[in-house]
Amino acid sequence: MKTQVLGVNAPTQTCTDKKCPFHGELDVKKELFTGVVIKKDINHSATIEWFVSHYVKKYERYALKRSRLRVHNPACINAEVGYEVLVAKTRPLSKTKHHVILKVLGKKEKITGTEVKVDEAAGRYAAKEDEEEGGKGGVKSKYQSKK
Ligand SMILES: [Zn+2]
Repeated sequence: MKTQVLGVNAPTQTCTDKKCPFHGELDVKKELFTGVVIKKDINHSATIEWFVSHYVKKYERYALKRSRLRVHNPACINAEVGYEVLVAKTRPLSKTKHHVILKVLGKKEKITGTEVKVDEAAGRYAAKEDEEEGGKGGVKSKYQSKK
């Protein structure tokens, strides 16, 4: 049993999982990701997701890129859906899993991607309203000037 893996303290609970970085025989590599758990399956598997915004020159706007990763979720950590987790690279654990959860960082109510989308839409809607009001005002002032 290891007390620390990559500077992360072992969880208070213990497990008998061979694929656990703390209580098993699994070595982790120093390649870390953080993401939110969006799906939790049997056999200690989970799917995490995170968003990266990048600039699209043609449209002069930012687009969100979604990344997803299948990860191993040891019994001693047992991360739930909606929680942000720290993940490290390992040897291949199964056909689709090459990463393991090290630590639960905390609960995340909203996923960043949806938050940004909502904000953008609200901003655009508000801007449109302003333009319309301005246009009406302009027409009124024209009429007034004619009179
Ligand atoms: Zn464990």
